[in-house]
Amino acid sequence: MDGLEALREQGRRLTPQRRLVFSALLESPGHATADELCASISHKVPGFQRTTVYRTLDLLVELGLARKVQLGHVNAYEAVQAGNESHQHLLCDHCGATFDVSAPEVPEWVERAAVKIGFGVGRVELVGHGSCQACARGQAGPIPGRPVG
Ligand SMILES: [Zn+2]
Ligand SMILES: [Zn+2]
Repeated sequence: MDGLEALREQGRRLTPQRRLVFSALLESPGHATADELCASISHKVPGFQRTTVYRTLDLLVELGLARKVQLGHVNAYEAVQAGNESHQHLLCDHCGATFDVSAPEVPEWVERAAVKIGFGVGRVELVGHGSCQACARGQAGPIPGRPVG
């Protein structure tokens, strides 16, 4: 079952607008901010309502079809697809590139620590900060206005 089918299964009315937002999310490589999705949709549908993008993203998160991830100062979204349900993120502090990494032991560690204080962990989000390969080699410049470090 693909994401759109899943959305239909949820019994919600699949409006063309929602379909557009979800498709844009599925098409965007890695993680996209609401603004990036707005920009890519406005490309195809000039004048597309920004609030529709925000509302649909909230709905997709609620339905478990998308995940909101905090990457540094930025809220980004990614589609939940088979095989990527559980991963952690690496964020390059220089160019802002993000990477998904599989680290199944991370939630286990956090759960083990949490159980000592009787805390029930639902989901663990870890962001590793540092330099991507290109930045480490000095091939990518910092993004103007993006704080470094
Ligand atoms: Zn980088
Ligand atoms: Zn991710």
